[in-house]
Amino acid sequence: MEFEKFKFMQFTRDIYVGHGVINKAPDVVRKNLLRGNVAIITGHNTFKIAGKEISMLLDEASIENSVFICDKADEENLNKVTREAKEYGAGIVIGAGGGSKIDLAKKTAYNLDIPLVSIPTTPSHDGIASPRASIKRGNWSVSEEAVMPVSIIADTYIMSKVPYRYLKAGAADVISNETAILDWKFANRIKGEEFSSSAAAIAEYASRELVERAHLIMPEVEESVWLVTKQILASGTSMAIAASSRPASGSEHLIAHALETMAPGTAIHGEQVALGCIVAMFLHGKDWKYMENVFKKIGISTKASDYGIRDNIMIEALRTAHRIRPERFTILGEVDLSYHAAESALRITNIID
Ligand SMILES: [Zn+2]
Repeated sequence: MEFEKFKFMQFTRDIYVGHGVINKAPDVVRKNLLRGNVAIITGHNTFKIAGKEISMLLDEASIENSVFICDKADEENLNKVTREAKEYGAGIVIGAGGGSKIDLAKKTAYNLDIPLVSIPTTPSHDGIASPRASIKRGNWSVSEEAVMPVSIIADTYIMSKVPYRYLKAGAADVISNETAILDWKFANRIKGEEFSSSAAAIAEYASRELVERAHLIMPEVEESVWLVTKQILASGTSMAIAASSRPASGSEHLIAHALETMAPGTAIHGEQVALGCIVAMFLHGKDWKYMENVFKKIGISTKASDYGIRDNIMIEALRTAHRIRPERFTILGEVDLSYHAAESALRITNIID
């Protein structure tokens, strides 16, 4: 029989991480812009933090650019910015912001089939280095296929300006790779889903590096941002190798996405993921207590009520999270967890009282 297997992997070509690397924006654009102009997608706040400076740097380098200030990452805003960037003749998209602006930028670049440069203003999650974007369609935020950034410019000075809460959340997002890998192995055993040990090894390495250095993750220290960002980038590499978010997104992310929809405006992504990770460890029969301690060490609360998430919402989120991405098989299975099972898992792990 002929060998017909093939795989496509897309990697980020240039990664700049460190103090003041935002200055590299013109070089990166020159290298990756084949034709057209530069569309900078950013938000009101992130424009002040980074967008404005990027635009000025490009102006100084005589590179034609325009700033598109966007609101949340929903279908309406995505269609609007895609249309406007197309009319403008964008040949490259720069996403400058936290989660939602990078998501909009990623999806705009995907829609227009042009390269994306990711310039994160916060180290709060691994989306800054992943090939997927969360876009709200109707009531649900769905994680969709987008593009892998051709370049990531992670300026630790800029990122160290955000409140500590975001840094902790970013660390939690990477630490939770632990349960994502357990889910992936589980799906491999039960469903025969293809498993990449190299991708899993890198994702696990990123998680363990942060677990071991949890005591070094501190507020107002640029080096802490460096530490977390490095592992966010390693997580990104694992996703590039797997050509999917599998190594960094399992049941804990399904639970996080469910909370995002059912309890909006409460916990931020990394915090939701931490809650999901602890209960997922429990469901896998693993040492959830250890995970709880790791999150506590970096100052992440592991109680739903601390975020204003009501017990019944937390239970419903856990029961129904599997519906969000039915193709992503995890320990949550394919039918709703019984109310009793979900409630007791959350009580045992102290997530609810
Ligand atoms: Zn995440």
